[in-house]
Amino acid sequence: MISLEEAFQRLDAALPDIRLTTQRLLLQQCHGRVLAADVPSRIDLPPFDRSAVDGYALPAGEEQSEYELLETVAAGRPGRAGVLPGTAVKVMTGAPLPAGTARVAMIEYAHETNGRVRIDRHPGESNLRRRGEDLRAGQTLLQKGQALGALEIAALKACGVSEVDAVVPPRIFVISTGDELVDRLEDLSPGKIINSNGPLLRGLAEEHDLIVEGQMVVGDDPAKIEDALRRAVQVADIVLLSGGVSVGDYDYVPGVMKNLGFTIHFNRIAVKPGKPTTFATSEGKVIFGLPGNPVAVYVMFHLMVLRAVARLSGRRSSPVELLVKMGPSYHRGSGARLAFIPARITDDGSVETVDYHGSGHLTALVGADGFVVVPQGVTKIEAGEPVRFRQFSGG
Ligand code: AMP
Ligand code: MG
Repeated sequence: MISLEEAFQRLDAALPDIRLTTQRLLLQQCHGRVLAADVPSRIDLPPFDRSAVDGYALPAGEEQSEYELLETVAAGRPGRAGVLPGTAVKVMTGAPLPAGTARVAMIEYAHETNGRVRIDRHPGESNLRRRGEDLRAGQTLLQKGQALGALEIAALKACGVSEVDAVVPPRIFVISTGDELVDRLEDLSPGKIINSNGPLLRGLAEEHDLIVEGQMVVGDDPAKIEDALRRAVQVADIVLLSGGVSVGDYDYVPGVMKNLGFTIHFNRIAVKPGKPTTFATSEGKVIFGLPGNPVAVYVMFHLMVLRAVARLSGRRSSPVELLVKMGPSYHRGSGARLAFIPARITDDGSVETVDYHGSGHLTALVGADGFVVVPQGVTKIEAGEPVRFRQFSGG
């Protein structure tokens, strides 16, 4: 059994960085994609000196209580006048600043009468935004490896970018193994369970903008698993199997991987849940043999599968792990493995574990916000102690 850190290192070592192909995409096609190259801004932002408030553009020099009002300038409609000593121009938020503007007095603290404006309170700050102060043309806006969501796409658009080079997402194939699996309630009979790992893995893959090429259920039959796997690796970059990787009599998955010529980099990790997680590669193809228990599948998808995706696509990811105050104390019998315990954040901001019966208890996750991470060797966390809390989500 190896540590989670060791498993990460072996996974990284087995996967060369960025080997997926890239393609040029219009901005409207690239939601969820990963940038294949740095993207510079094409323009200065803001593109011109502009007012940050509705108010009066004032000249440099000594503050006066009254100014002669020259004209009004709206956003999108540049004015003609520049401000000279003793004069002001009325400007709206976002309006281009008249030449000579040193600061903008807010409309709320001024009065207009007969072509003049009286300033009741001079601004404490300039209230103007200079051309290029956010970003200059040619300056890098987003770096290679950045995943593109609504925010990034809006920022690209604001910078005048209309096309980017993006990585083609990894193709995924999902195989759920187990004689006990059925897909429909009508087929449920004694000893059978509904296949939840299939939809879980497909859904997680789709949530992370991966391409799911197919999904199937196969019984605990080595020949059938081998056949399914052989076909899956032909159409996918990453195959996600669940079930059949442990030490039970019908756990055939690791043997099948070897038969197909795959190199197994690890198959036992000191982590709970997810101990029998098996990772194998061959000629650019990746197979994860995930445990059958759905909570293990959920945790290992985020820890291992997304890490592999990041390696293949060059995607930069920074998992969010917080230190949170433990609510009621926590105790476990053995500290042999690093553990992920489903937990929720309470109204007072501390964390409490949810009712959880082990890694088969998928429905416990529905009421959890994330996982308390209990290090190897630790069996007790006192109430009020800082504890590692990990949330799995989009990035
Ligand atoms: P295994 O890893 O095959 O020993 O399975 C461990 C546990 O996970 C068993 O209780 C299985 O019934 C359960 N399991 C396996 N595959 C699935 C699946 N696709 N959906 C839900 N539970 C599963
Ligand atoms: Mg099984």
